[in-house]
Amino acid sequence: MKAPARPKIDPVDFLDLSALLDEDERLVRDTVRAFVDERLKPNVAAWFDAGRFPREIVGELAALGLFGMHLEGYGCAGTSAVSYGLACLELESADSGLRSFVSVQGSLAMYALYAFGSDEQKTEWLPRMARGEAIGCFGLTEWDHGSDPAGMRMTARRAGSDYVLSGSKAWITNGGIADLAIVWVRTEGEDDGAIRGFIVPKGVKGFRTQNIERKISLRASVTSELIFEDVRLPQDAMLPHARGLRGPLSCLSEARFGIIWGCLGAARTCYETALEYAKTRVQFKKPIASFQLTQEKLVNMLLELQKGHLLALHIGRMKDAGRLQTEHVSLGKLNNVREALRICREARTILGASGITLEYPIIRHMNNLESVLTYEGTSEIHTLVLGQALTGIAAFS
Ligand code: FAD
Repeated sequence: MKAPARPKIDPVDFLDLSALLDEDERLVRDTVRAFVDERLKPNVAAWFDAGRFPREIVGELAALGLFGMHLEGYGCAGTSAVSYGLACLELESADSGLRSFVSVQGSLAMYALYAFGSDEQKTEWLPRMARGEAIGCFGLTEWDHGSDPAGMRMTARRAGSDYVLSGSKAWITNGGIADLAIVWVRTEGEDDGAIRGFIVPKGVKGFRTQNIERKISLRASVTSELIFEDVRLPQDAMLPHARGLRGPLSCLSEARFGIIWGCLGAARTCYETALEYAKTRVQFKKPIASFQLTQEKLVNMLLELQKGHLLALHIGRMKDAGRLQTEHVSLGKLNNVREALRICREARTILGASGITLEYPIIRHMNNLESVLTYEGTSEIHTLVLGQALTGIAAFS
């Protein structure tokens, strides 16, 4: 009797991880993937080249329900964490800068309001942000305080019933295009100098932004300095439910969760590109895919992609079950971004000289992932978080 035909193995979804998703999750993935293929991938190299964030796609991203996607109410989609992760992966298969836009809007700015805002603040901002009518940014980092935000200098001092904010924030995604900034500052002369969050609307007197130019990473994303010169805000601009660094750090945990997935999208695109290229590029009268060294590179990429995907899915299920802790997020971010960057670099070698141009997506993804390795906690900081979890000893200073 003839043996039944073996199903063909997909070189991208090698372990059929799709089968581990439920119907809703597959629908989200496929919907975002179709949008990315049609609308983003054909244009993103030009946006990157021009150093331009495509504002014209904001309404389309909103219509897909991508802003604050895993939040409940206020016009947000209220999906599972896994669905949100899958959306990040598909978006970042086009470009990390575009995924960064969605992460900052939803996981940083909207989440800060959602978790720590008053009812009035949530009602005022969240529905507009979900619809893409208001763009948010999140200011924690300062020029002199990146990995160690506890040292921040920017202050809010009391003036009657108001607060006056002075100082600056640096490297702020979406800063120059934001309608509101969520800014974390040290209160002066009260509250034991605690770090508090404020909502700073665009156009308020004394607040301006300056974009950081000449980046060769995340060029399709806006990165800015936020400058505050005696910016006077009413008391109700303060987020009432966040006090201390725990507030901003919990927002970062949300965004890092998206990165655990997103970076796999960048790596997947590089792997797919290298695989196709290797099959058609002929040297020494043979496709370069026929050389053992090339095959080893492709196999190593596949191994890390599949492991990274399993890790992201497991972490996503933990989040949906309410069991996820910051150390788990550190493990996922450290591993997946590091491996995604390695995959992109390896893919670049397969394309040889062609790998360094914007004709192919690889060098763009590679350069983008250099930022992703640094922001939302550098690899070194996540290593120290894990080191502390293992040993009980903090080695940060
Ligand atoms: P530093 O903190 O100066 O670190 C430099 C190097 O020293 C790193 O390798 C670091 O790991 C290492 N190092 C530091 N301390 C230790 C230690 N204790 N042990 C071992 N090594 C250590 N921030 C925001 O608030 N909002 C945003 O929207 C935002 N968007 C960004 C977008 C982009 C494109 C980039 C590049 C950054 C963005 N950031 C944002 C800032 C980002 O979070 C910081 O760059 C990051 O925290 C690192 O800070 P730093 O660049 O000052 O590096």
